Amino acid sequence: MWDCKYKIGEDDCRLRKTGCYPGGKKCVLYGKFEFPLRDEDDELDDPKKRSKKKKPK
Ligand code: SF4
Repeated sequence: MWDCKYKIGEDDCRLRKTGCYPGGKKCVLYGKFEFPLRDEDDELDDPKKRSKKKKPK
């Protein structure tokens, strides 16, 4: 499995200073790859700008 060189410990990112979130803000993959199937939000994202999941009608 791919291991990022910025990862520290179990799941922390040296660049983001929070948990590792591949493709999230400050991640080296930001803007290069998207992870559309992921459920959790990036903790560095502004909560107001987070896309709300649409509820099925
Ligand atoms: S968030 Fe990105 S840069 Fe940071 S450890 Fe994870 S994959 Fe690496």
